[in-house]
Amino acid sequence: MPTLEIRELHVAVGDKEILRGVDLTIAAGETHAIMGPNGSGKSTLAYALAGHPKYTITSGTVLLDGEDVLAMSVDERARAGLFLAMQYPVEVPGVSVSNFLRSAITSVRGEAPKLRQFAKDLKTGMDALSIDSAFAQRNVNEGFSGGEKKRHEILQLELLQPKIAVLDETDSGLDVDALRVVSEGINRFRSSGDTGVLLITHYTRILRYVKPEFVHVFAGGRIVEEGGPELAEKLEAEGYEAYAKASA
Ligand code: ADP
Ligand code: MG
Ligand code: MG
Repeated sequence: MPTLEIRELHVAVGDKEILRGVDLTIAAGETHAIMGPNGSGKSTLAYALAGHPKYTITSGTVLLDGEDVLAMSVDERARAGLFLAMQYPVEVPGVSVSNFLRSAITSVRGEAPKLRQFAKDLKTGMDALSIDSAFAQRNVNEGFSGGEKKRHEILQLELLQPKIAVLDETDSGLDVDALRVVSEGINRFRSSGDTGVLLITHYTRILRYVKPEFVHVFAGGRIVEEGGPELAEKLEAEGYEAYAKASA
């Protein structure tokens, strides 16, 4: 069963320490939410897991099924089954969504999918996410609206079928309809029961659609409280004020 284990992770940008000892284990079949105020280090965790060069791991370990993720290249992380939406946040000039997705699958599986099967899977995925068929021919992220970017993210998730998916602020900038479609996509992905999800969000809104079993509150670069879904409800009612001194 796939498991992502983060142990005592410390991360710096330049000489500024941002993550100050994060411990988190995500097993297959589990959905975890990381919540916290702006600036608490949530995206830094996602970037560090993605292997972004700006984020220096100063100490700690990250294991996926016992394998050292931090020693892997960005491509190797994807091949090992880790999905980090932020690996591909940029515009890819001249590359269509369709070609981009096919090469992403090729890179992860080590062989190109058969064209006919790929076309079928792509159509199924796009239909499920209520994406217009013309979208496949557009260039990646070029002029994408916030909602299109997020749908594209979930489309990647559906086609790549990773073991563990880390989704950072997947809910931001979505209207209610788009939020529902994107949430349904995440729920389809986790319904197999052998995948794990780490949902990073500032807001409780998405957690009404994608119910986490575990909620972790981030403040000042570490986890300061943990609980079940009821913790998200408490945060919705009370906000993050109680954690303000943890980040000071
Ligand atoms: P969150 O996602 O919880 O809002 P971030 O991880 O984006 O928090 O940021 C945490 C802290 O790290 C902030 O003080 C932010 O300014 C700083 N930080 C994050 N990324 C960078 C970066 N690339 N360069 C400089 N500072 C950064
Ligand atoms: Mg932020
Ligand atoms: Mg963030």
